[in-house]
This record gives sequence, structure tokens and C-alpha cells, in this order.
Amino acid sequence: MTLPYGIFSTSDSDKRVGVRLDHQILDLEMVGRLGFFDDMAVDPAVFKKPVLNEFMALGKPVCGAVRHRLIELLTHPEKPLDTFAELVLIPAEHATLHLPIRVGDYTDFYASEEHASNVGRMFRPQGDPLLPNWKHLPVAYHGRASSIVVSGTPIKRPNGQTLGPDQQPVFGPSNALDFELELGIVIGKSSRLGEPVSIHEAESYVFGIVLFNDWSARDIQRWEYQPLGPFLGKNFASSVSPWVVPLEALEPFRTDGPKQEPTPLPYLQPAGRSYFDIEMEAVLQTPDYPTEVILSRTNTRYLYWSVGQLIAHHTVNGCNLNVGDLLATGTISGPSPHSYGSLLELSWNGTRPLSLPDGSSRTFLQDGDMVILRGWAGNRQIDLGEVSGHIIR
Ligand code: CA
Repeated sequence: MTLPYGIFSTSDSDKRVGVRLDHQILDLEMVGRLGFFDDMAVDPAVFKKPVLNEFMALGKPVCGAVRHRLIELLTHPEKPLDTFAELVLIPAEHATLHLPIRVGDYTDFYASEEHASNVGRMFRPQGDPLLPNWKHLPVAYHGRASSIVVSGTPIKRPNGQTLGPDQQPVFGPSNALDFELELGIVIGKSSRLGEPVSIHEAESYVFGIVLFNDWSARDIQRWEYQPLGPFLGKNFASSVSPWVVPLEALEPFRTDGPKQEPTPLPYLQPAGRSYFDIEMEAVLQTPDYPTEVILSRTNTRYLYWSVGQLIAHHTVNGCNLNVGDLLATGTISGPSPHSYGSLLELSWNGTRPLSLPDGSSRTFLQDGDMVILRGWAGNRQIDLGEVSGHIIR
């Protein structure tokens, strides 16, 4: 069972923690008030909060026990929650979903070899696709937490400075607005400043995962990014899915990662089975043709750097993690062109426009376009749901 956690409200209740069950949401505060958590160190008030942070901060033993209890209640032949269905179950269509995390710090990695190589081939055609450091450390930049929004939030096309056709800077709306298909890692435990998190303990800091769309304005990015990396081309918005899937739900879907050559330094070894077999897709809906067009199908197992390696590297200098931090993997691209996780790659920097069934074509996103990312594992036994957003002017 996926049993993802999220934050919802209804016309007669404030924001609170819920667990998604197909077409219904389980109200955890109400489950707790009915006494189902009485033998555990869980005050039901921790679920009457506008974000998951306080619940996550209880730690894995407690959060894991809550998940275990929910599985017991939902699979017990006597269906103990059925008696209280009117109190504890809310039809999903009656609920509004909210940003599930109060995000402290947000870091975006660049952990897909295919994505980094594709970008290298486009932006530095004369050199090696990968820069010399890429296979020695998981490259990342510190992103902006304030502009992280929940799925469904409209994305306003950013204005900015770009390089015009005569190689002079011009100001105006981005003409190269893109999505990036990524996985977000939600940190559920704080570490101490000055104390690195070892790769062996790294996963104990992960509460769960979300789908993540790191909207990107390629024309702004291309002009601004040297020498300090992305800034206004990225920080206008990033979208997350409303449901956080606990790491425990993904245990059956662990997989081996790629062979890492050259062998990374000892603090990044071993990568272990800290990779997951999660199918992901990106689809486009245009305003004139509401049927979805699949842009990309990929898988998180294509990542070069593991979840554990991202955390070990992030903290090796003593940088601390806090509950609610979000680490994103970077765009996840696979080996085939149909598995590229951004329009930059799918249209090869705008040189190969994509033909759409409505007769139009796309290099980058137009106003009114909706991008939806989805993720699942196995035969959809584990469902990450979706993250959507549409472009407005
Ligand atoms: Ca990114």
C-alpha cells in the first residue's frame, strides 16, 4: 500500500494531515482521537497542522509505527475503521490539497548522467559532454524554497534578461520555458552543524519522496548561468506533488545503480541499493487539444548518483540538514530520446520541434500548456500520483 501523507482542508475543516486511499482521504487527527494511536507516542494534535513537518520530526520509529498501524487497520478482516467511516473518511473531491511541507532549504542536484551529457553536448559542443568533476561528486546548486508550490498552481511565465539575436541583452518574457522531470527527497530528520551524515546512515534522514517539476527558463538560464550557476532562470517556481510517499513504501522496489567508474572517494561508497525502480512520465495538454500527449517515459533507476550519495555529499563539509529540507535529483533522462526529462533535450535545444496531434508543434512551452508528471512503481502497486501546472502570462 502506498499510503502517502498530505495536507488537506475542506469547507468545514482547517488544514490537517491526511493519508490518501484511492478516492478518499483518511483524516489522521480523527483516527487518533478515536483512540487508534493511544498505545503509541503520538498526540493526535500533531495531525491538526498545516504542514507535515511536526509529524515528520517525531522520527522514523514513530512515523513507521503509524504507517504500520494504518496498514493493520485497513487490512484487518473486521475493518475497524468502517464503523467510523463518516468521521474519518473524506471524499477526495471534497478536499483541497495544500503544499505538504514547510520547505526549509531546497537543493537541486544534477544526478542523471544522460541529462548532464545531453546538456553538455548542446551547450559545449566542442568539449567533453561531462565536465571533469561530474563522475567524482554529485553536482548541485542551492535553490529557492519560497517559490515551491503545490501541484495545480498556475505558473506565471517569467520575464528576464536574455541574449538577443544581435548578441545584446534584451528584457522580456522567456521564450524558452521548460519543465524538468525530477524526484524530490523530503528530509525528515535534522543533522548537527559540523557533523557529516555518513552514507551508511543517509537514508535514515529521508522521510519520503515527491514528484518534482523544476520549471526552467532556458534563455534566461543560458545568459546568466556562468560562473555561479542557475538563478532567475530557475527560482520563479518549482512544483511538488501533494502526496509524500514514505520511503518504506518503496522497499520492494530497490534496485542496483549503474557501475560507477571511476570509483568515487570513500565517503561516497558504497552506493548500495539506494536506487529505486520508479516509472515516471511527463505529459502535455495544450489548450486546443485537451487529450494528453506523452512527452517522455523514464525511470529513476537511470540516476547515476544514489539517494544516499546525494545526502552524504551534501553534508560531508558539515552542512546540516533540517526537517522539511527538500533535495531534488535533477532532471531524470534515460538513454533513449523518448526518455528525456525536459523539452530542452526532447527538442534538442529547439532544433527538433515536436509535432503534436492538434497539428501544432512545440520546442518550448506556450501559454495555456499544462505539464503533468506522474510516477509509479511495480504494476502501479505504489502510486506517486501526479504534479501538474499550466503556464499563464
Ligand atoms: Ca533541475
